[in-house]
Amino acid sequence: MKSVEAAYDDSCLFCRIVAGQISATVVRDSADFLAFRDIAPQAPTHVLVIPKRHGYRDVAQLAAENPDLAARLLAEGAEVARQEGLADNEIRPGYRFVFNTGDAAGQTVYHVHLHVLGGDALGHFGR
Ligand code: ADP
Repeated sequence: MKSVEAAYDDSCLFCRIVAGQISATVVRDSADFLAFRDIAPQAPTHVLVIPKRHGYRDVAQLAAENPDLAARLLAEGAEVARQEGLADNEIRPGYRFVFNTGDAAGQTVYHVHLHVLGGDALGHFGR
């Protein structure tokens, strides 16, 4: 389905959050993006950042169809990390971006979302 045909999907959990039909703890709200706390945090800080528009099921589709929006989603995530005090934390600055992509990665909501994780020492991949 072309993304432009699906700005809102009534069956999509994240669209319902954008529409205010399901409550969430919003940390940042802009014209094109919404950032809210994950309901089951995997780190002391765990925020999800989504484009408000539905139609991009995962980051691969977003990057292929709308690279400008993909870049701005990353910038929005960086701003959330700064706002949450992760980027410039005095003791241990830093954070992690995660895009679970597809079933094998555990993706459960097919409205593209960036996980911003931080606030503690995160285990390092590949070590
Ligand atoms: P996974 O569920 O394996 O983390 P996803 O990458 O699709 O896969 O992430 C969906 C995320 O949405 C999960 O981290 C989940 O905790 C979160 N979530 C589900 N329902 C809500 C909700 N109502 N409010 C905030 N976050 C939610």
